[in-house]
Amino acid sequence: MARNKSILTEARQIERAVTLINLGARLQVLESETDLSYERLLRLYKEVSGKSPSKGQLPFSTDWFMTWQPNIHASLFLNIHEYLNKVAEMDEIDTVIKAYQLYQEQTKAQGLEDLLSVTRAWRLVKFVDNGMLTMTKCSKCGGHFVTHPHEIARHYVCGLCNPPARAGKGKAQGGIHMH
Ligand SMILES: [Zn+2]
Repeated sequence: MARNKSILTEARQIERAVTLINLGARLQVLESETDLSYERLLRLYKEVSGKSPSKGQLPFSTDWFMTWQPNIHASLFLNIHEYLNKVAEMDEIDTVIKAYQLYQEQTKAQGLEDLLSVTRAWRLVKFVDNGMLTMTKCSKCGGHFVTHPHEIARHYVCGLCNPPARAGKGKAQGGIHMH
């Protein structure tokens, strides 16, 4: 997406960075998705969020997305993202931003905590882009869920249809549907 980035005006890049900071994105996301200098981004981050960015590595593993509740949240986000990708002509990062805002609206409407951070959402899209994760259709409910690419669809049952025994009766994920 370097081509798209280069034609963006600086004002647009700042606007995009501010939106990401407000959504709670890590500084590394801003570095990757704008052409603004590190110093500039650092200043912007402190101004907008009122604190210094957290240090340390971004999560690099796909494991988190495979655990039960995170998988449901990641799947909800990715369904929205795939939909926007099809119907809207936007730069890649703007699709992530819009999909994440819609994901937050959905979880809020259902009184759920937004378990998926915008940084993880951004990472998830990268994992899908490079083939480390994909979506597989649940053989019971027909919803599409985040899985490893080698999942056999015929046998795949999602976390909503087959919650872990300790999870109790569906309170935690409320009425999330992936159809
Ligand atoms: Zn299912």
